Amino acid sequence: MGRLKNVCPHIIDMDMVKDEAGRPALQYQFAFETEVGTFDWVCKRCGSRVSENTIQVVRRRLERALEHNFGGTAKGLLEAQDKTTKLIEKVNRLGGAP
Ligand SMILES: [Zn+2]
Repeated sequence: MGRLKNVCPHIIDMDMVKDEAGRPALQYQFAFETEVGTFDWVCKRCGSRVSENTIQVVRRRLERALEHNFGGTAKGLLEAQDKTTKLIEKVNRLGGAP
C-alpha cells in the first residue's frame, strides 16, 4: 500500500483553532507511536516506519509551511487527511492490512 504512505500526513486529531492573538491556528498531533523493542516510530494510520529524527524534520517542515502559507497548508493537510481516511476505509473493505 505505497499509495497510502504517500498520501498520509501522519497526523491525527487535527483541529482548526485560534491562537491567543485570535489568529487561525492548527492544532494537531502526529500519529506516530513507539514500537516496543525498537527505536522506530510507526504511523498508526499508514504504517510508515520512521526514526525520531525524521519526526522532528517533518514537524519543522510542517510548522514552516504553516507560517508561510497557513490557509493553503491547512487546506492541503485536511485534503490529505480525507484522502487517507478514504484509502484506509477501502483497504479495510478489501480485508487487507494497510
Ligand atoms: Zn502515516
